[in-house]
Amino acid sequence: LQAQLQRAQRMEAIGTLAGGVAHDFNNILQAISGYTQLIGGHPGLDQKVRRYAEDIDLAARRATDLVKRLLTFSRKVEPALQKVDLNRQIDHAVAMLERTIPKMVRITTRLDPDLKAVKADPGQMEQVLMNLGTNARDAMPEGGELMIETQNVRAEDLSPGAACQLTADEYVMLRVSDSGMGMDAETQKKIFDPFFTTKGVGQGTGLGLSIVYGIIEGHGGRISCYSQPGQGTVFEICLPVADDSLTEREAPEVVTVRQAQ
Ligand code: ADP
Ligand code: MG
Repeated sequence: LQAQLQRAQRMEAIGTLAGGVAHDFNNILQAISGYTQLIGGHPGLDQKVRRYAEDIDLAARRATDLVKRLLTFSRKVEPALQKVDLNRQIDHAVAMLERTIPKMVRITTRLDPDLKAVKADPGQMEQVLMNLGTNARDAMPEGGELMIETQNVRAEDLSPGAACQLTADEYVMLRVSDSGMGMDAETQKKIFDPFFTTKGVGQGTGLGLSIVYGIIEGHGGRISCYSQPGQGTVFEICLPVADDSLTEREAPEVVTVRQAQ
C-alpha cells in the first residue's frame, strides 16, 4: 500500500510538472508560429525564404499538437460516471481492435452473461480497453491469443495482498490476458509510470498504462498485473458495481481520442 501511495504521488508530481512545462512550451510555440506567419506574409519575399517560413510554421504546429496530447494526459479527467454495460463496451472495443491487430493474434472473449452494470465513464473505459489491447498486440509480434473476460466478484473474494482500498461490496472483474513476451519483475515495477516504455523511439509513448492507472483510480477501482518473461501477461481490473442512483444512457458515448479543451 505504501508503494502504491508513493507511486500515486510520483505520478501526480510528474503530471503536474509535465502540465506546467507543456503550458509554457505551448506559449513559446505560439510565438514561433505567429512570427513565422508574419515573415511568410511579408511582401516582396523570396519564394525560397517563404517556403522556409512555411516549413517552420508547420513544424511549430506539429509540436503544438504533441504538447496538446501531453496536456490532455496530465490533466486529470474526472470521469462522468454512469451505469455501463461493460460486456457491450468490450464487444465494441474488440471490433475496433480487430481492425488494428494482425490476423495472427486471435481475440477471444469470455463474458459473464449476468454481468452487473458498472459505475463508469464509457469513454474512459474504451481508452482502457484500447490501451490494454494494443499493448497485448505489441507483446505478440509473432501472433498469439488475446483473451478478455468479465465476471461478478465480491470484495471479500478478492486477494487481500494486491489491493488498494476497496470501498464497495460488489465489483466487476475485467481480465485482459495475452500469450505474449511477458516482462520481468524490474519492468513490471515501472509500467504504470508515465513515459516508461521499452518500445523504440517513435514506437511507444509510455503513457498508455499510466493513463489506464489514472482512470481506474478515478473510478474507485484497482488494477493488478501478473506477468513473467515468456509466459504472457494478465491485467486484472476491478470496478465497483453501479447502484440504482445512476442512469444508463441510451447509447454510450464513445470517445477514442480525448482532446484538450
Ligand atoms: P507504451 O505501450 O507506449 O510503451 P505503456 O504505458 O502502454 O507504454 O506500457 C509501458 C510498458 O509496459 C511497455 O513499453 C511494455 O514494456 C510494458 N507492457 C505493457 N503491456 C504489456 C504486455 N501486455 N506485455 C508485455 N509488456 C507490456
Ligand atoms: Mg501502450
